[in-house]
Amino acid sequence: MPRLYESRKRILVTGGAGFLGSHLIDRLLEKGDEVLCVDNLFTGTKRNLEHLHAQPRFEFVRHDVTFPLFLEVDEIYNLACPASPIHYQHDPVQTTKTSVHGAINMLGLAKRLKCRILQASTSEVYGDPAVHPQTEDYWGNVNPIGPRSCYDEGKRCAETLFFDYHRQHGLEIKVARIFNTYGPRMHPADGRVVSNFIIQALNGEPITLYGEGTQTRSFCYVDDLIDGLMRLMESPSDVTGPINLGNPVEFTMRELAELVLAETGSSSPIVNRPLPQDDPRQRKPNITLAQERLGWSPKVPLREGLKSTIAYFRSN
Ligand code: NAD
Ligand code: UDP
Ligand code: UDP
Repeated sequence: MPRLYESRKRILVTGGAGFLGSHLIDRLLEKGDEVLCVDNLFTGTKRNLEHLHAQPRFEFVRHDVTFPLFLEVDEIYNLACPASPIHYQHDPVQTTKTSVHGAINMLGLAKRLKCRILQASTSEVYGDPAVHPQTEDYWGNVNPIGPRSCYDEGKRCAETLFFDYHRQHGLEIKVARIFNTYGPRMHPADGRVVSNFIIQALNGEPITLYGEGTQTRSFCYVDDLIDGLMRLMESPSDVTGPINLGNPVEFTMRELAELVLAETGSSSPIVNRPLPQDDPRQRKPNITLAQERLGWSPKVPLREGLKSTIAYFRSN
């Protein structure tokens, strides 16, 4: 529909009240765009957006993406989905519906509007990977019937839908495979390792290391990740992804625990707890594709990103 008054871009961010979505919205507004946030507030909160109260270019709509949505925008970032194991396993059927029905509805919307759509996919599509570091051409090692499957298989099916809409309807798609990301506004009770360790250290409680703590993850600071998502959205049409976005510097969970203790100055003890079922043993992105096609690589080292994340949890 031609616009009569505005020349700015109108951008839809689903899941915009969450951790990543709220940072993305801040950056889009800084750039001068108009932003429409659609969120059902399952794991997100209006607190993440309250500083935008008086911002005339921002609008919030409470809506569940598993239901159809009719509005007019120029671009869609589809981030709606609980992301932490505790949250996505709370109502696993709803998690699969959010990924699959949510993708169908947002793709249907993008098809009608002939607009670009970006999917927040995940390194979980690689499951417990047999290839290390993970490249985008690796098909993954995913349990289809385990407790993580609602998330992993839901996200895999969403990727399938994105590529079928691209092939079948010529839709402009962008699929980002996001690796573990951390920073201010992480949900304090989502059980993710960075927030857990920081809160435990600040409260002087034991640091809960699952298993022996030899499993690895690679942690990307939120500002770097958002920069990658925006570069992907703005990339030439032939860049569809899937494209890995993450920080390739790998840490064991024991190293992370020790780093958090050092940065908080806490004397909390480290205690071992059982390793959850299907917990991936190692994870580290190969980001050559993002470096070459987007000119992107993360800049914030873990120690530095932890400082601002710790400051955030301290002030909360
Ligand atoms: P989050 O839980 O903080 O944010 C998700 C948002 O989606 C929340 O605001 C939630 O209320 C909303 N939501 C959930 N179901 C919805 C539904 N049916 N309809 C409308 N809104 C709904 O998580 P996050 O860390 O910000 O993750 C954002 C996206 O990035 C997710 O799609 C996630 O899978 C993906 N991702 C995140 C990470 C990470 O490390 N944070 C890693 C890989 C992928
Ligand atoms: N849809 C939507 N908003 C729109 C257009 C479509 O939510 O602006 C939903 C629609 O309800 C449908 C889904 O997206 O369930 C897929 O749409 P598509 O046009 O691809 O399929 P169809 O309507 O033919 O099933
Ligand atoms: N983990 C841990 N202690 C915690 C929370 C998580 O040792 O209190 C481990 C978890 O077993 C996993 C890693 O940290 O190996 C990352 O967990 P998270 O839930 O943050 O992300 P994901 O497993 O989805 O990558």
